Amino acid sequence: MPTKKSHLTRKKGRKGIPDAEQEGALPPHEWKKLQDLQYCTVVDGRRKHKFRKGETVLVLGFGMNPDEIHELHTYWVGKIKAIKGKSHESEAWVNVQWYYSGEDIAEQTTNIDVSGYGRFERSLSQAHDWVHFQTLDVVTVIRYNEDSISPEAIQPTDFYCRRSFDPRKNTVDPPIASTSTCICGQPYNPDKAYPLHFCPRPKCRKWYHRLCLIKEASIDDVPREGSRRKHDTTAHHRYKLLCSSPDHQQTLDLKNLTSGPRGPTQKKVQFNINLATLENVPTSLKKIAQQQIMKGGATYGVVGNVKDVVDARRFVYRLLQVETTEEWDEVLGDMEEWLEQHDVSHLLSNGDSRSSADGDDNHEAGCLALICPICRGAI
Ligand SMILES: [Zn+2]
Ligand SMILES: [Zn+2]
Repeated sequence: MPTKKSHLTRKKGRKGIPDAEQEGALPPHEWKKLQDLQYCTVVDGRRKHKFRKGETVLVLGFGMNPDEIHELHTYWVGKIKAIKGKSHESEAWVNVQWYYSGEDIAEQTTNIDVSGYGRFERSLSQAHDWVHFQTLDVVTVIRYNEDSISPEAIQPTDFYCRRSFDPRKNTVDPPIASTSTCICGQPYNPDKAYPLHFCPRPKCRKWYHRLCLIKEASIDDVPREGSRRKHDTTAHHRYKLLCSSPDHQQTLDLKNLTSGPRGPTQKKVQFNINLATLENVPTSLKKIAQQQIMKGGATYGVVGNVKDVVDARRFVYRLLQVETTEEWDEVLGDMEEWLEQHDVSHLLSNGDSRSSADGDDNHEAGCLALICPICRGAI
């Protein structure tokens, strides 16, 4: 955390001019004596930190008292584009390309709806400033692509970036409207405790607010034939979730994925045909694969469980399609390795069995039988 003096004398990117002059840094004759450096060194007590060109840094911003402790999300964030100093060990000035927060953008323009910006969200801009090296600390900004079914994990205190901001044109790219995939057209704010559901099928891949699906009556409320009990509906919905594949637009017929009987002329005669059935798929894997894909708020997190549930469903499909006992063992081995790398109880507790801030009155055992507005598959 930066604990040094703030040398910033003005707000970031106020003029929106790339490579602004070293305003507030040094007198011009002193500035001319500095050389371009690849890195600079900050000594913090007994520790030395090297800051290199290309790194992303936290900056103690304009108006932030260096003697106070600030919440992490209030720091400024930038990417080091250039460094100037007398030597690598001397006092240095660092040119940073700013990442704008939603608040920064709102200060500059009212043309952009920033209601979807989370506290840790930033948009890379073309605005640059020179800042003193003692205002810096290292940080990472994770790129978040909302369409992805395998987004990089984003922890609650990680900075992330979904779009860029042009302070001269006052535009963001991609535009807010184009990233709002819900029927309401409203952006996704990861800080809000309104969960969103995702349909992973190749032509869908869209997120919907749970409340919007409920309002649109996008609910599969028909109990399984012969039963009117709610838990049967939930169990049936979970089965339908399992049939919703990230690699097929149609609902998968899991029974036909399973290897059928083989005659003596077929090469896999040694295979036990009863092995590749849903009953033999390990329960923990099945439970993850049958979860609703969700994100949002403290319960589900910024990117949610999409990657884990998609991985788990693919493992189930692989197991159901194996043709030899060797193949079964191989997939099972891969799956066990995958499970070892994951905190299964955390995955399950973070899933749809957890209560959420809204919609709870309407769902039983945490699984409301919602359906995708496009393909009508379970989500
Ligand atoms: Zn919505
Ligand atoms: Zn769909």
